[in-house]
Amino acid sequence: MKDKILVVEDNDRNRKLVRIILQAKGYELMEASTGEDAIRQLKNAKPDLILLDIQLPKMDGLKLTKIIRDSEETRDIPIIALTAYAMKGDRERILDAGFNEYISKPIDTRQLPVIVEKIIKESREKAK
Ligand code: MN
Repeated sequence: MKDKILVVEDNDRNRKLVRIILQAKGYELMEASTGEDAIRQLKNAKPDLILLDIQLPKMDGLKLTKIIRDSEETRDIPIIALTAYAMKGDRERILDAGFNEYISKPIDTRQLPVIVEKIIKESREKAK
């Protein structure tokens, strides 16, 4: 079965880029453009990983991560932050906020699938 990835990103071009790269690597994609939409989708399906834009309209990525981590159903899903600039380089703060990893924008199309694979693998090891 294909690993499923939820990408939460309000920028259509970035979301499309992520979709194209990851579908080409064999992943199944779920897409949301707001945190509220992501929460709705998480009620129906559990992705293997979430790629989450920090800067979203209304509910931002930090708030959404807190909600995901506070819920029994979703707390173990690995989350990779997509950061434009605010937290760039600030690895400790990102990890403290509940993220497993972060990727700086603009997205490096070669690095993205490598990190996604690594984080899914790490989270499976941890769950054993
Ligand atoms: Mn954004």
